[in-house]
Amino acid sequence: MYNPKSLKAEEFIDHEEVLASLAYGEAHKDDIPLIDSILEKAKLRKGLSHRDAAVLMACEIPEKVQEFYALAHQIKLDFYGNRIVMFAPLYLSNYCVNGCVYCPYHHQNKHIPRVKLTQEQVRDEVIALQDMGHKRLAIECGEDPVNNPIEYVLDCIKTIYSIKHKNGAIRRVNVNIAATTVENYRKLHEAGIGTYILFQETYHKESYEKLHPVGPKHNYAYHTEAMDRAMEGGIDDVGLGVLFGLELYRYEFVALLMHAEHLEAVHGVGPHTISVPRIKRADDIDPSAFDNGIDDDTFAKICALIRICVPYTGMIISTRESEAVRSRVIGLGVSQISGGSRTSVGGYAGYTPDERPHDTEQFDVSDQRSLDEVVCWLMEIGYIPSFCTACYREGRTGDRFMSLCKSGQIQNCCHPNALMTLKEFLVDYASDKTRRIGEKMIEDELKTIPNEKARAICAERIKLIEQGQRDFRF
Ligand code: SF4
Ligand code: SF4
Repeated sequence: MYNPKSLKAEEFIDHEEVLASLAYGEAHKDDIPLIDSILEKAKLRKGLSHRDAAVLMACEIPEKVQEFYALAHQIKLDFYGNRIVMFAPLYLSNYCVNGCVYCPYHHQNKHIPRVKLTQEQVRDEVIALQDMGHKRLAIECGEDPVNNPIEYVLDCIKTIYSIKHKNGAIRRVNVNIAATTVENYRKLHEAGIGTYILFQETYHKESYEKLHPVGPKHNYAYHTEAMDRAMEGGIDDVGLGVLFGLELYRYEFVALLMHAEHLEAVHGVGPHTISVPRIKRADDIDPSAFDNGIDDDTFAKICALIRICVPYTGMIISTRESEAVRSRVIGLGVSQISGGSRTSVGGYAGYTPDERPHDTEQFDVSDQRSLDEVVCWLMEIGYIPSFCTACYREGRTGDRFMSLCKSGQIQNCCHPNALMTLKEFLVDYASDKTRRIGEKMIEDELKTIPNEKARAICAERIKLIEQGQRDFRF
């Protein structure tokens, strides 16, 4: 029954195969020679199969777990260096016809205000985000064919890309909307979106159907097969994710890797990103009602093993997680984080950095620092905050991106791009303290660009940014 090349959800996420992999992992969790041989394979940086991954996930031998962490850290450094890409979510509308029991936007929730941004309000939100320094957004929208049809989402994307306020610009819009048709995915592709992101929530079909009792999202197969339709519609970069805490994490972990293997087998390109959200408190939602919550150590292990198993896939963590958790998993493989996020509809414009509207929040934000504070913190702990959006704008998407990434050549673009976009942030948006730390970081990091020509071009462009020019990229 299990067939990674099948286009049927129940065949590429075959329940029996997940269970057999978990049983295999359990049977070999103390098999040190096998674990060592899997680790040797992982060191080749070509990824691991879901069966091998299940063994590592089941293993609880402390020294081996430390080896997983060390390898994840090394792979992170080899592929992503010390750069962290920054983004922010933008909530467009919380109208939703679905009944997801873990989300406050579920349609039975009668006490949450329903809000949908007008194009004028989208404009205000985007200006507020640009004034913080953001260049990359992830738009979020409930599923409601009457209130939020695809035309509404397309209008919003057009508005977002059109706004050029002072030196600001949103250069990449990633889209997180409900599973839809090939035709609608084609429209999103033509609108110039970056990544299409859709969280599976849970791969466990029976749980999935209970957690999504009503609405179009109830259809497990339609939801699980969405990425295939997105790719058929021309979207090269897709982002996977599960909501950890809904089902047993080991099940989700194995199934998530099977989904990645399926995309690779059918489309020749794996997921562009994997997000690792954990269930959080929100209006009408009590996380303790879900008994599969995971602690911080398990969460760190999941992040480290994703890094080892799919080295070329970016990993995203949101402000759901605290500063402490974020700093831990950044070292284990996370490559993108959000900063200064608001998870409510219309949460940016008209509020000071300390004011936070809660009435339409989708979940509690643990990391409540401003973007400037997050940028400063990242640099203080040794990471370069990057506002780079170059690949998508240079047409490096899908298999073009992956082949560059696998050849290691992407490194020659990412590092100078990170420094140039950080320079833009420092000149246009940073506080004095952040600017001081950032200028020193740029000076030091420029010296580490190995290619002499690239180093000279990057240094020259950084000077030009100081003189007012913007938007350079390799
Ligand atoms: S998770 Fe998405 S689809 Fe489900 S209720 Fe919330 S907004 Fe709607
Ligand atoms: S060069 Fe490409 S891969 Fe590197 S940070 Fe920029 S967009 Fe990402």
